[in-house]
Amino acid sequence: LATGETYDMVVIGGGPGGYPTAIKAGQLGMKVACIEMRGRLGGTCLNVGCIPSKALLHSSHLYEEAAKGWGPHGISADNVKMDLDKLMKHKAKTVTGLTGGIEGLFKKYKVDYFKGKGEITAPGSVAMHPMEGGPAQTLSTKNIVIATGSVPAGVPGATVTVDNDAKVIVDSTGCLDLEKIPEKLIVIGAGVIGLEMGSVWRRLGTEVTVVEYLDRITPGIDDEIAKKFKQILEKQGMKFKMGYAVKSATNEGGKGKLVMDPVGGGATETLEADVILSATGRVPYTEGLGAENVGVKLGARGMVEIDDHFATNVPGIYAIGDAVRGAMLAHKAEEEGIAIAEQLAGLGGHVNYDAIPGVIYTHPEVASVGKTEEQLKGEGVAYKVGTFPFMANSRARAMADADGLVKFLIQDGGAHDGMVLGIHIIASNAGEMIAEGVLAMEYGASAEDIGRTCHAHPTMSEAFKEAAMSAYGKPIHF
Ligand code: FAD
Repeated sequence: LATGETYDMVVIGGGPGGYPTAIKAGQLGMKVACIEMRGRLGGTCLNVGCIPSKALLHSSHLYEEAAKGWGPHGISADNVKMDLDKLMKHKAKTVTGLTGGIEGLFKKYKVDYFKGKGEITAPGSVAMHPMEGGPAQTLSTKNIVIATGSVPAGVPGATVTVDNDAKVIVDSTGCLDLEKIPEKLIVIGAGVIGLEMGSVWRRLGTEVTVVEYLDRITPGIDDEIAKKFKQILEKQGMKFKMGYAVKSATNEGGKGKLVMDPVGGGATETLEADVILSATGRVPYTEGLGAENVGVKLGARGMVEIDDHFATNVPGIYAIGDAVRGAMLAHKAEEEGIAIAEQLAGLGGHVNYDAIPGVIYTHPEVASVGKTEEQLKGEGVAYKVGTFPFMANSRARAMADADGLVKFLIQDGGAHDGMVLGIHIIASNAGEMIAEGVLAMEYGASAEDIGRTCHAHPTMSEAFKEAAMSAYGKPIHF
C-alpha cells in the first residue's frame, strides 16, 4: 500500500479466525493487512493447539498400538521403541510447514502481513508495534477486525503458577513440549484439552490422574456420551478424581505437588507428580489491544462484545473467534472470519451456530453437533432418540475397533417432525463421520432423509444411517 493510502480492512491476529478473514478479504478484492505478534501465522491452533496436539495424539496412538500389539489380528511386535525427540521433531515440522503455507497464501491473495503487535489508537487507526522493535507504524483503515484469540485460564480460587520452562507446572503449551516422558502426570480439568493431552502421555507410559471439580467429564457434551467416554478412558488406564477443588499446584524442588479439597466436604488431599497440567479452559486475550482507547466494550472475562453481525459498539470495529462469545474452536473462528469478510465486501456472510461440530481426538474419538438431550429437556422440546452401537457394525467388528455408538436426537411431532436436532458419536473415526451430520443439519434433513440414503457397505457410516433409522423406526442390524 502506498504511504497515506487507507486499507479496507486491518485484521489484528493471524490465527484461524484472523488469517482466513484476511485471505477471504483479499480474494474479494479488498486492500487488507494482517498484524500478528507471534512471529508465525496460524495462531494458537496451528502453533500450540489443534495441530501439534493432533500430531502428538497420532504418534502416541501408533506407538501404543505397536507396543500393545494388534492382538485380535494376531499381530505383535517386539522391541517397540519410542524416540521422543523424533516424535517432537515431526510435530514441529508439521507446524512450521503449515504456518509457512499460510504466508504463501497471504502473498497469493495480496494480504500485507505485519509481524508486530496491533494497538487500536482511534477508530480507523491501528498502531503496529514491530516485533523487532523500533517506532510504531500507523495503518489507517476503513474497518478493523479483532481476532486476538485466547490464552489458558487460571484455576479459579487456587494458586497454580504455570512455568512452562521449568516443565513441572505447565499449561497446554508446556505439555506439548515436554522433553521426557513423565512417570506421573496430574491433569487439572476433565475438558477436551486435558483429556487429549492426558491421553498422549498415558499412551507413552505415563500414569495419568485427572482431577475435576464437577462430578462429570467434558461439560457441554451429552451426558450419556460423557459417561460412556469416561468408562472408555478408565478402561484405557486413565484415573479420575471427581469432585475436587484444587487449592494449589506448586513446584517443590522439581516435583509437582497438588493440594485439593473434596467439594462435598472432607479432609484435604495431596497428590504428587512429575508434571501438573493446568487445563481449565481458556479466556479471551485483549491485552495491549487498545480496546480502552476507543471504548470497545469488553464483557465477562475480557470477552469482546459483539452483535449478530460481529460489530462491536464502535462503528468500523468488528471481532470474531475465541475473543468473542461461543465455542472456542478453530473452525468456528474461521467461519466467522469468512462471514465478516463477506459482509464487509457487501455480500451476505452468515454462520449457522446450530451446526458447529465439536470433536475430541482421543481413541475412540467423540464428536457431536447440535443439541444434547439435556439441552432439549431444558428447552422443553419433544424429541425422540435413536442409537446404534458399533458392536453391531460389520466394519467396526472386522477392524476389532467397535467401542462406541451413534446417537441421534430428532424432533418428535409438530411441523418439523423427524428433523435432526443433535448427533453424538463415539467411534474411532467420529471426527470424520460427524461431517455427514453437520451437512444433514445444515440442509434441515430429517432422520428419514438419512435413513433412506444409501451408505456403502461395509463402512462405519452404516452405523450412522442405522442410528437415524432407529430414531424414526427400526434399524436392520440391531
Ligand atoms: P488464536 O488462534 O488464539 O489466534 C489469535 C492470534 O492473535 C494469536 O496468534 C496471537 O498471537 C495474536 N494476537 C493477539 N493479540 C494481538 C495483537 N494485539 N496484535 C497482533 N497479534 C495479536 N480447536 C479446534 O477446533 N480443534 C482442535 O482440535 C483444537 N485443539 C486445541 C488444542 C489445544 C492444546 C488448544 C490450546 C486449543 C485447541 N483448539 C482446538 C482451540 C483453537 O486453537 C482455538 O479455538 C483457535 O485457535 C481460535 O482461533 P482465533 O483466531 O480466534 O485465536
